Amino acid sequence: MLMTEMRTHTCNELNAGYIGKEVILCGWVQAIRNLGGMTFIDLRDRYGITQLAFNSETQSELCETAKEFGREWVLQAAGTVAERYSKNKNIPTGDVEIIVSKIHVLSQSEIPPFTIEDESDGGDELRMKYRYLDLRRNPVKKNMLFRHQIAFEIRNYMNNIGFVEIETPFLIKSTPEGARDFVVPSRVNPGEFYALPQSPQTFKQLLMLSGYDRYFQIVKCFRDEDLRTDRQPEFTQIDCEMSFVTQEDVLNTFEGLVKHIFQKVKNIEIPDIERMTYADAMKLYGSDKPDTRFDMRFVELNDRLQHKDFSVFNQAELVIGIVAKDCGNYSRKQLDELVDFVKRPQVGAGGLVYVLCQPDGNYKSSVDKFYDQNDLRKVAEKCHAEEGDLILIMSGKTEKTRSQLSSLRLELGRRLGLQKSGEYKLLWVVDFPLLEWDEETERFYAKHHPFTAPKPEHEALLLTAPREVNANAYDLVINGSEIGGGSIRIHNSAMQQKMFNVLGFSDEEAQKQFGFLLNAFKYGAPPHGGIAFGLDRLCAVLSDLDSIRDFIAFPKNNAARDTMIDSPATISEEQLKELGIEIKN
Ligand code: ASP
Repeated sequence: MLMTEMRTHTCNELNAGYIGKEVILCGWVQAIRNLGGMTFIDLRDRYGITQLAFNSETQSELCETAKEFGREWVLQAAGTVAERYSKNKNIPTGDVEIIVSKIHVLSQSEIPPFTIEDESDGGDELRMKYRYLDLRRNPVKKNMLFRHQIAFEIRNYMNNIGFVEIETPFLIKSTPEGARDFVVPSRVNPGEFYALPQSPQTFKQLLMLSGYDRYFQIVKCFRDEDLRTDRQPEFTQIDCEMSFVTQEDVLNTFEGLVKHIFQKVKNIEIPDIERMTYADAMKLYGSDKPDTRFDMRFVELNDRLQHKDFSVFNQAELVIGIVAKDCGNYSRKQLDELVDFVKRPQVGAGGLVYVLCQPDGNYKSSVDKFYDQNDLRKVAEKCHAEEGDLILIMSGKTEKTRSQLSSLRLELGRRLGLQKSGEYKLLWVVDFPLLEWDEETERFYAKHHPFTAPKPEHEALLLTAPREVNANAYDLVINGSEIGGGSIRIHNSAMQQKMFNVLGFSDEEAQKQFGFLLNAFKYGAPPHGGIAFGLDRLCAVLSDLDSIRDFIAFPKNNAARDTMIDSPATISEEQLKELGIEIKN
């Protein structure tokens, strides 16, 4: 019940129990229907729709006025709740209507540029330009309310287990690691710039040092990256950090949070989350975020296929295959489609070898010239392929081949309907490598970020065999989407300094960029670790939608623009001057 001076009820509240009551409703005109002697208006607010009725004989003046209203006008209607003649079973208020006695136009509306319906006639661009109208539509509203519910449940749960929400600054300092920063010029310090945080990482670590023990924040983060459907320049993290914890503690704590969210917003009890090492994820799925709703694991076939004259396989570092169940009857055209798929520039493979396990027990392959039935049987055995199945094989450099077969695996998952909506497979991927070698710049980068600690038993390898060093770093993956990631951190100044050195920073550079942290660690830093989840992506995954944009009230488009407010935009000469910025054309 939502009673104010202006309205007594919402547009979703009234039912047969209210018949005869005097009420006042406020809302937007969804539709007007003139039917013989009656005019009906569907009045809509956030909560629902109620029918207003005007009788042309008994209320001729009101009726004439009502006929003049247009879609999306804002009305205040007073009247009596009455039983409806033709009931609408699809809405909670469908048994009643309001016989209007007084109507007040609160606001008129121009004809909206698209229909405010579940299925709108407006295209993407138009709806983004008029996002405030798009937000009136049910599917969009549903997403906003869903997001609110998740955020609310998170705050509730975190508060109950002793986490405090602390805000960290948005105007911080640009740092060389990670993605590109958004920068903000400082007027009072001409020629100097703030950067918007890519995450509150160092601040949350400092809060641990300050003794806050358990911190979280639902916080905007900013990354100047190329956009994709699951990326936005500003997005929201559920950012968390804890002191005096091991990896096990962190995983257990946040497994609790994730279970709570699923239970509250989806009414799903999820079982304990499985764990897989990074090495296994790469070996079995070719990805550090495998979609485990379906199996189709990689099988290594070097030992079965490198003994004949097929030079492509013989020269390859890795030969791997997957089994597409019951696809052994694929036609030439279907097989060609898969070959074309892997040859697309986005996948970038040279080709694909197939083996059809035919119902008569014979094998037919694209490499029959090189391999006889016995060879192919051995391949099928190793892959556990049965009659009626299709084996798809790729080869080449290990990493590249795994990633290419991973793309094919996901494509098959899509084609075969194995990524079922409404089914959720969660996975902790653990034991990430600490570092990643970049061929182009010929240096190591932190796989997670430079504050992640090496596993204690690997510390000694940091300078001698950096590639071998693993970290207590972990990602949460849901249905093939990376939903969160975190690690146990370095909490010792010397070790942090060493890490910067491995990443190619001189002592001076490290001091200049991260001196505050190196210094802070000298004043009693507790062991700590944490994690951050992507709220936008979590909402999307839980709703079986691909785009995080659907869960952001005012998102940017693919060109990083907000077309509604027309931003980014130029600023005046005067502002530029004030900021000490000169633009050269
Ligand atoms: N700050 C990290 C990130 O944004 C998450 C973490 O390590 O807690 O990915």
